[in-house]
Parts: sequence; structure tokens; C-alpha cells
Amino acid sequence: MERKLKILYLAAEVTPFAKTGGLADVAGSLPKALRALGHDIRVAMPRYGRISIEKFGLELILENVQVPLDEQNEPVRIFQGTLGKDVPVYFVDNARYFDRESIYMYPDDAERFTLFSRAALEMLKPLGFKPDIIHCNDWHTALIPNWLKTVYKDDPFYADIATVYTIHNLAYQGIFGHRVLEIAGLDEYRFLYRTDMADLDKVVNFMARGIYFADVITTVSPRYAQEILTPEYGERLDPLLRERKDRLFGILNGIDYETLNPATDPYIAVNYDADSLDKRVQNKLALQGEAGLPRDPSIPLIGMVSRLTDQKGLDILVEILDHLFDNFGVQFVLLGTGEQHYHDVLMGLAKRYPQNMGLFLTFNAPLAQRIYAGTDMFLMPSRFEPCGLSQMIAMRYGSVPIVRATGGLADTVKDYNPVTGEGTGFVFDRYDRWALFGAIVRALERYKNPQEWRRIQLQGMRADFSWEASARKYEDIYYKALASKKEDKGNAGEEHSQD
Ligand code: ADP
Repeated sequence: MERKLKILYLAAEVTPFAKTGGLADVAGSLPKALRALGHDIRVAMPRYGRISIEKFGLELILENVQVPLDEQNEPVRIFQGTLGKDVPVYFVDNARYFDRESIYMYPDDAERFTLFSRAALEMLKPLGFKPDIIHCNDWHTALIPNWLKTVYKDDPFYADIATVYTIHNLAYQGIFGHRVLEIAGLDEYRFLYRTDMADLDKVVNFMARGIYFADVITTVSPRYAQEILTPEYGERLDPLLRERKDRLFGILNGIDYETLNPATDPYIAVNYDADSLDKRVQNKLALQGEAGLPRDPSIPLIGMVSRLTDQKGLDILVEILDHLFDNFGVQFVLLGTGEQHYHDVLMGLAKRYPQNMGLFLTFNAPLAQRIYAGTDMFLMPSRFEPCGLSQMIAMRYGSVPIVRATGGLADTVKDYNPVTGEGTGFVFDRYDRWALFGAIVRALERYKNPQEWRRIQLQGMRADFSWEASARKYEDIYYKALASKKEDKGNAGEEHSQD
């Protein structure tokens, strides 16, 4: 058996402390699963203003840690809290950079997450915690592999730490001007001139640096790991990803089976499970009421919980909603926030179809759970989808997903086949409103037959989307990262001795 590891897991958002999307859910659940496998995994994140010291029982454990930033030192404090039963979480506290209302979207985000990442490295010695692995997530923490291979490489405390870099969404790369290199103390190590990616040299691209310097790169589904090697999905980093493809692995996210469980969920009207699915209709009636729609169990109720961005397929959806309302009489409940033009279009539709459409333009986790529990079908017509958690939550709650075959959606939803009776949802290929329309109509046809529908629901509810299998895959990735770090160091040593 391989030895147990010490792991530092870094993320800009972690459920239940701060969340805008799927990254937080992953960071709030994967570490618990790795802890359960016996590893000493600890999490670090910034302490944003909204994270209450009292509410989460945070304890001040380090004061005045000096973190290099822009040729000076910026002091931070470290608080400690707990995730789940026993995963320690370190909160990097600095009022100037983190005591703000939101998590992102500030003009100094590059500086803020540089400070967070650098502080996570600098706190390790005073904490007396020397990890085998640092697991970085998304652009916010992508400079760590870069620092470890340059600034810290001759410090014996850091020299053997291997890095894993996980891409949750390649579309958000963290692109800034060169000034950031001075702030990060990396200006002597300018990028990486590459003839096929000349653009990269004009900017500082955090994501690219993570990919370039990490010992192993992962992304959140096997299909997305393939897709991002192509120009269509590669967001202009595909040449770099192709070069690193022997180190790139796709591991499907899981969902938190403890908190996302219709049998115990405290936010839904009536608890139920696969053996008591008849009770589920109470949640549908309650949701229809909450959304101001006619309460009628026989009307198909479709749901969506989503960031309202181009990625999520809203442009093709808004073009067919009126047809669905006019010709099929369906109800639709949408919870989400995002781009203003989608807010406007959706508000217009909700106004025109008050009997059909319930719209909540806000972020509300308990309401999201009521939507998973109360809808018959759940829409995710994404243009691209690295993994997607919502479709898995929907299946666990018995809402049948209608998805586009991309990324993690393709890996988790099996198209229903009426001949064999197999399948967990309805899947379409082309990114096109009529392909989406066709999938919804196919679902509505099956919905007319309650027994058949029940079978599809149960097949989804019984699929396994827990973290267990994926946590074991991350374990393998960590051993791989250690091995490749060792090998690279060996190679560097040989080169050195030939000098
Ligand atoms: P992404 O990470 O791209 O936003 P995912 O499907 O991976 O998409 O994860 C989205 C997560 O965020 C799900 O848990 C979903 O329920 C939740 N979510 C998204 N929008 C909202 C909202 N407006 N209110 C509550 N929860 C939301």
C-alpha cells in the first residue's frame, strides 16, 4: 500500500464558507473524501469579509506572517476552522485585500490572489506543516507551481513538494499585464516565449503558468480533458495543453452525498428517496406555489439553476421558450444570476408568460435544492461544460436532466433509449436551438407515460455520483505527481552535472 500523504488544497471558494459556483462545491467535498482515505489533507482559502469568525468558530493561530508582495512584505494573519468533521481549513486574513463584500471582480484581483497564494506558501514553515502535495485550483492559485519551480526551488523545505493543478473552467484564465510579475516577484522569470503562442508573451496568463509548471494537470471530466486539446474548446491554450498532454488527466467531480440528499434535505417540503418517490409530488406542488405558478401535478415542470452566461446555453434556450409555453403548456422555473442582457430577456419572458414561468434572479442555495426536488426535468443546454454538478444533483433528486453532449454532461448523463429502457436523461449533440427543442419534446413524450418516466428517474437516482471513486483517482494522481517531480528533478540534476 502506498504511504499516506500530506496535502495542502487551495481554492478561492469553498462551501460552506464562500461560494459562487461549482469550484466551491468541489473544494468543500473532495478534501473530506480524501481525509476519509486517511490522508492529512488541509484546505486554505482567503477570509473574505463575509466569512464570520463567530459563525464558523474560527481560531486565530498565526499573527503577522510576512508575505512578499511587490518588493515589500504584506502582513497576514491565519485563522483556522474546520470543514466537515475533521478537515482543517486555514483562512488567510488581510483586511486590505479580502475584507470586501464579494469574492471576485475587483480591479486588484491579480494582487489579491497573488497575496493569497504566496501567503499559503509562507504560512507553512510557521505552521510546521510540510506537504507532499500542493493541489492548486483554477487561475487564482496557478502561480504556486511557477514559484516552486523558480523562487523556492533551492529551499529544502519546498524543494520536494509536488504540485497538482486542476482546471475547473478553462474560460477563466486570469489574464493581466506584466506589472503582475513584479508584484509576484517573478519578473526575473519572464515567460516562456513560444512561437506558436506569441500572444502569451504579451500578457501574464495565470492559467497558462499553472499548466506549464505543475507536475500534473487535471481537469474535471474525461471528456473535457479531450475537448480542451482542440482549438474549439481550448480557449487559445490548446497548443500548450497538447504539449503537456501526457500529464493531463480528466477526473469526474462528485457531489456531496451528505448535504445533497432528498431523504434528509432540510430545505425541501417533503423528504423522500427512491423507495418513496410518490411523496416527491408534494415538492412539485410547493415549488409551483413558491414560483407563483398554477399548482397542478400533471403539468410538466422544467427547472434550471445556473450562472447566466453564454457558456450555459441561454441564447438557444430563450429562442424556444415561447414555443414551449404556447404549444406544450409547460412550466419553467429558473434560478440564476449573471449577465444583464439575460436578466432583461428572461424578465420579459416571465412577464409575458406569468402562468408558465417562475423567475428568481438571485443566488439562493436552499431554493436551488427545492428546484432539484420539485421539477420533473432539469435543463443544461451548455455550449461547453467542464463537468457540471447540477445535472448530477438533479439526478440524485429525481429530476431528469436534458443536456447537451459536452464535457462532463456527456460523461454523466446517458441518453434514454426507449427500446432498451436504459438511460438517465435526454441528450442532444449540436449546439442549436432546434436540437435542444427536439430533446425537450422527446422528454415530454416520455413524461406522458408515468411508469416509463419513473424508471428513468430511478435510473438517475441510483447512479453513483459520490466522491469515493473520484477521490481514489486523485490519490493516484498525487502519487503520479510525486513520481514525475522526482523524475524531473533527477533529469535536472543530470543536466546540471554535465555542465
Ligand atoms: P458552474 O461551476 O459552471 O457554475 P456547476 O454545475 O459545476 O456550474 O455548479 C453550479 C453549482 O452552483 C450548483 O451547485 C448549483 O446548484 C449552484 N448554483 C448556481 N447558480 C445558483 C444560484 N443562483 N443559486 C443557488 N445555487 C446556484
